[in-house]
Amino acid sequence: MNTTVQVFPVLGLPVHLSDNYPGYLLSRLNQGLGSHVVTLNAEMCMQAEKTSRLANIINSADLVIPDGAGIVFYLRLKGKKIKRFPGIELAESLLSQITTFYPSPSVFFFGGAPGVGIAASETWHHKIPEVAIVCQHGYLSGDEETQLKETLKQLQPQLIFVGLGVPRQEFWIAENKHLCPHSIWVGVGGSFDIWAGTKERAPAWFCDNNLEWLYRLYQEPWRWRRMLALPQFAWKAIWHRA
Ligand code: UDP
Repeated sequence: MNTTVQVFPVLGLPVHLSDNYPGYLLSRLNQGLGSHVVTLNAEMCMQAEKTSRLANIINSADLVIPDGAGIVFYLRLKGKKIKRFPGIELAESLLSQITTFYPSPSVFFFGGAPGVGIAASETWHHKIPEVAIVCQHGYLSGDEETQLKETLKQLQPQLIFVGLGVPRQEFWIAENKHLCPHSIWVGVGGSFDIWAGTKERAPAWFCDNNLEWLYRLYQEPWRWRRMLALPQFAWKAIWHRA
């Protein structure tokens, strides 16, 4: 598999264009190359405009995938036809395909409320029993976090999914990825909640029509303030001349 992918700028941030993101990452893993993956959406783009630390992390990520409908909309405006690839689907593809390369891989889930990661890992254990998943919830004291870092150093899992929400998870990965330099690190937002069954993903019709954000707003109305970033992004996308 090709070890380079095309990069296209979205409001000054990179988005990698590929029709096989999991294949690209697993091929890097096979070569001993670690990867930090950012799953970019419009909300995150607008946050990055205000927070240079987040922008720098996105700029230096090894892979930035088009997670949100806004990113796909922007790319289409610029003549790039690419399908949306949500982070949760990337994580699921990696879990499903990892055994092709590693017969008994090790995976780490960090984040979510206490109990959520365990329930999520049980869901996966039923599907692929050969994958060993270790979990840690995302509400740790300083001492517990130090212990977590030790565990990661010893385990060197092939996949490390961090679900602390944006931008906390991106900051955490950037600060700690040196602990496991050969792993695939992905910020997965609320994916553990979905695998655990404590939250639901939008029905397929919403996902297929780039309206997952609308379903989320209906499920979690408190998100309205954060989602004001979406019309701002659309406005910028239309007027930006990159
Ligand atoms: N979370 C966590 N520790 C924290 C704050 C949040 O583990 O200190 C978890 C939270 O329990 C949830 C996830 O981070 O599982 C955030 O999910 P959300 O869907 O809000 O992510 P985003 O929309 O930011 O990608």
